[in-house]
Amino acid sequence: MGNRTYTMIKPEAVAAGNSGKIIARIEDGGYKILAMRKVQLSKADAEAFYAVHKERPFYGELTDYMSGGPIVAIALEKDNAVPDFRQFIGATNPQEAEEGTIRKDFGTSLQENAIHASDSDENAEIEIKFFFSVRDLVG
Ligand code: ATP
Ligand code: MG
Repeated sequence: MGNRTYTMIKPEAVAAGNSGKIIARIEDGGYKILAMRKVQLSKADAEAFYAVHKERPFYGELTDYMSGGPIVAIALEKDNAVPDFRQFIGATNPQEAEEGTIRKDFGTSLQENAIHASDSDENAEIEIKFFFSVRDLVG
């Protein structure tokens, strides 16, 4: 284990027509796409996906935002995928993200930060299963 992570291109980046550019960056970064799907989350889907943040003050806004337009859900493979991909996309706040990262280049605010990345191997598996079945994952 330790070689898979889950990502999704968030609604504002999809709406702006940046999905293709972001996917190209991900592939150029050495990540293999195992499965990918464009999907519109319901409010209940977003609440379930972000249940870990239920007690945070931004939970309502976050789940409205994430259910406000289609996202692109992607399962990725690479050695050391979880920590490497978090570094690759940059800090949560695009203004603090390093030069050349996806969030720096495509994020527009702390909330609208273009892309998600799993924060642990355990959560990567949970999040991949939220969107894909085992037979969807093509190595
Ligand atoms: P993600 O889980 O989306 O990869 P992250 O792990 O960097 O991001 P989290 O703390 O898990 O950050 O927050 C989840 C998401 O909630 C952020 O990506 C952002 O869209 C939103 N968010 C985080 N902090 C705030 C905040 N203070 N105000 C509004 N939205 C926030
Ligand atoms: Mg997170």
